[in-house]
Amino acid sequence: MRQIEEPARQIPVLLDVDIVVVGGGTTGPLAAIAAARQNKRVVLIERFGSLGGNLTLGLNTKPSGALLGGLPLEIWNLARSTGAAGADYIAKTKTGGVNIASPCDPEIMKMLLTRLCADSGVQILFETLVSRPVMEGNTVVGVVIENKSGRSFIGAKVVIDCSADGDVAAAAGAPFIMGSGEKGEDLKMQPVGMYFTMADVDLIALSRWARTTDDIPAQAIPDDDAQLDYGLWLTGFNKTIQAYKKETGITLPRENITLKTANGLMYVNATRVLDVDVFSPTQFSDAVIECYRQIDEYAAFLIKKVPGFEKSRIAQIAPVLGVRETRHIEGEYTLTTDDVMHGTPFEDTIAVDVSAFDVHAPKGEDVDFQGLKPYEIPYRCMVPKGVEQLLVAGRCISADHGAHGRSRNMPACMATGQAAGIAASIAVGSNTTVRHIPVENMQSILKSIGMPLRPADLASP
Ligand SMILES: Cc1cc2nc3c(=O)[nH]c(=O)nc-3n(C[C@H](O)[C@H](O)[C@H](O)COP(=O)(O)OP(=O)(O)OC[C@H]3O[C@@H](n4cnc5c(N)ncnc54)[C@H](O)[C@@H]3O)c2cc1C
Repeated sequence: MRQIEEPARQIPVLLDVDIVVVGGGTTGPLAAIAAARQNKRVVLIERFGSLGGNLTLGLNTKPSGALLGGLPLEIWNLARSTGAAGADYIAKTKTGGVNIASPCDPEIMKMLLTRLCADSGVQILFETLVSRPVMEGNTVVGVVIENKSGRSFIGAKVVIDCSADGDVAAAAGAPFIMGSGEKGEDLKMQPVGMYFTMADVDLIALSRWARTTDDIPAQAIPDDDAQLDYGLWLTGFNKTIQAYKKETGITLPRENITLKTANGLMYVNATRVLDVDVFSPTQFSDAVIECYRQIDEYAAFLIKKVPGFEKSRIAQIAPVLGVRETRHIEGEYTLTTDDVMHGTPFEDTIAVDVSAFDVHAPKGEDVDFQGLKPYEIPYRCMVPKGVEQLLVAGRCISADHGAHGRSRNMPACMATGQAAGIAASIAVGSNTTVRHIPVENMQSILKSIGMPLRPADLASP
């Protein structure tokens, strides 16, 4: 590729803080709030104009697992108290029931997250991109940011990378693998997709039909129609889609789709594009264009073929492409498929998680969604090898492809964000490195804010 020289230049120092959190998505706000509540100076940097990432902008809305305590549950309870989330429900699947936190209203959630950050004293920088880390040897000492006023530097004692792709960790030299880390045809990486919503769906007619058809093998349908606004979750539709494709000749790549309600709107998870290198600007943009084509077609399918959708219309399209898997930063420990299947106990556990196992087959065959027993997430998955004063939290923690099928879910992401914020604040407060913090101090703070760390902590009182 042809290259040009970018001239070196002096840039201003905008701020010097204790902790920089990169990315204000599903994970970053929890890291920032947790650290700020420990009286640390925290900056949260987000490239878009609102918080929540895939949770809000991505229109995901529903953590695939119960929120068990600490900040994640505090946020959800706050949402419930304002009518922005409903009650948890059991999703019945082929392999048994999965306890799922109710979806939230993503627009209200943006405001709640922002208010919680502001109330905790977090300085948010919206519409600001973190371009790169600044290093002294192998220690991160801050980040270069870019926004409407140009480029500037923010100095930090600890940086927490919640960018989902591990942008800062990778640029700092932390080792990583993409997806399963295999080469060529063997590479396993979950596909990308884009949510959209439909308004004016007759939820009562849809739920009546869903109860009687054999085409929705996984479902949660509330007995009380008053709960439909947040409580309807339907996965399947394979036979109806196959028949439609045969009748029309239209290409719909995904035959197993999911519908769920939040605040009365229908959220549709149906699009799918395989083999996208999201770090290629052209492949990324082509995937967005393909998602738009699919949204048009899936909406038409729903209106024509699924009872309850007759008078519905597209209300909203996620302004961001939904990316399920990219870099897994290599940490001091890599969570394995076996760990999340069987619940390996860890001395340095930061949370017990009950997220579903949720793998969209990289070659597009089907979705493996199942409830499994609780598992523990060790702190070492968030401590990258080879780089000092850096933590990773959220989707990019150190996990193999199978383990990522659980740890990428929002309950796990939020839990790692919370723990990273507390760990960073301990390191700053005691002049030690994040690699060497006394883990028991972090665990005792986590327990004091009500976060269960082990399966035994979940036993009913
Ligand atoms: C289509 C789809 C459906 C899903 N369904 C579910 C589901 O039903 N239930 C579930 O629990 N999980 C689901 N997931 C997974 C889950 O939503 C994500 O794994 C999780 O939200 C990731 O959280 P995160 O904080 O790591 O990333 P994000 O929420 O993506 O947040 C990352 C944030 O960092 C910002 N950022 C990135 N780079 C920079 C930078 N350089 N500078 C500044 N800001 C930056 C981004 O703008 C973003 O706000 C789904 C994922 C997809 C794609």
